[in-house]
Amino acid sequence: MRKIQLHWQILIALVLAVIYGIYFKEEIHYVSWMGTVFLRALKMIIIPLVLSSIISGVTNIGNAENLGRLGLKTIIYYMSTSTIAIVTGLFLVNWFKPGVGADLHLEQKPEGLDEAHSLTDTLINIIPENIFTAFSNNSQMLSVIFFAILFGFFITKVNPKYGNLMKNFFNAVFEIMMKLTLFIIKFTPFGIFGLVAEKVAEQDDLFALLQSMGLYMAVVLMALAIHALFTLPMITHFIGKANPWKHFNAVKTALITAFSTSSSSATLPLTMEAVQDNSGVSGKISSFTLPLGATVNMDGTALYECIAVMFIAQAYAIDLSITEQVIVVITALLASIGAAGIPMAGLVMITIILTAVNLPLEGVGLILAVDRILDMFRTATNVWSDSCGAVVIAKSEGEKLKV
Ligand code: ASP
Repeated sequence: MRKIQLHWQILIALVLAVIYGIYFKEEIHYVSWMGTVFLRALKMIIIPLVLSSIISGVTNIGNAENLGRLGLKTIIYYMSTSTIAIVTGLFLVNWFKPGVGADLHLEQKPEGLDEAHSLTDTLINIIPENIFTAFSNNSQMLSVIFFAILFGFFITKVNPKYGNLMKNFFNAVFEIMMKLTLFIIKFTPFGIFGLVAEKVAEQDDLFALLQSMGLYMAVVLMALAIHALFTLPMITHFIGKANPWKHFNAVKTALITAFSTSSSSATLPLTMEAVQDNSGVSGKISSFTLPLGATVNMDGTALYECIAVMFIAQAYAIDLSITEQVIVVITALLASIGAAGIPMAGLVMITIILTAVNLPLEGVGLILAVDRILDMFRTATNVWSDSCGAVVIAKSEGEKLKV
């Protein structure tokens, strides 16, 4: 195994996982634990990694002016790519109308959807009441980031005697977390084998699902493909002046992990390693933009939410006016920012958009059955966009990259 490159190991693991999942459904517990262990190991390092990475990123960026410029570029990239993604989805869903004539009896009862907060709550909750509660909860990443940016910023404001001590300290923690990441990455093939085999074994009636939800799934996948294979490479090429294909090769392990785990946050360690070591983006830029991106930049999720809401409207034969569709676009953008980088977070946020345009909340039940499958594809798109963003921003800051 040693000699085979990691991405080949992962691909072999993927193929074996599909075969195992199909033929050994009853024996799935013999392998599913590997996925659980891998995911736990990734989750274990998220909080210390995000905290140390943002703090060291902000302190290395130096002053308020640089931080402001970099922050602004990052936000502009995140908002504009997500908006383009949503518009791509809106266009395709209006064109193919997958919801027209959809079978309303397929509806399943959605569970756990009461978790969705309103948008104002999501914004207010960015400020944590208790930072240790935020640290102990992987879905409160936005609060952790908020605290880390402030903490890092004020490190640059104190007496250099203390400032340098803290700067060195957090740089050291960050270095250690990255080494730990490299160690965990070695187990990716086993983790992915366990995760994918389990998911394949769970899907008992894929054929029936494809028959009833096929067009909807096809529209989502088509829109994701246009965004991931055309729009983002174009942006990387023309605005980032980098080679999208080389960059794709540099980050593919992270993309497959995003696909298998359906979690941008859990994939973050691998994304950071790939973008720094393989694409050559400086630690200063990647450690600031990537943790932020994994939490707020979700192009795939934004696009998916827009298509899902339009699908629900079509299924209930409710015509949405142009103004209402604009509201869908704006709320989908905000909902994707508010969604946590964990599996099926996007589904929960759909209720916010449905409320904004007065659609029945039970509509979520229509798309529940295929959400988990589509989550894999949208998460990979989310991570791909984060990584392209790091390249574009690094290039705009004059960095020389390997891609
Ligand atoms: N699973 C996605 C992510 O982690 C979020 C979503 O559910 O769309 O990026």
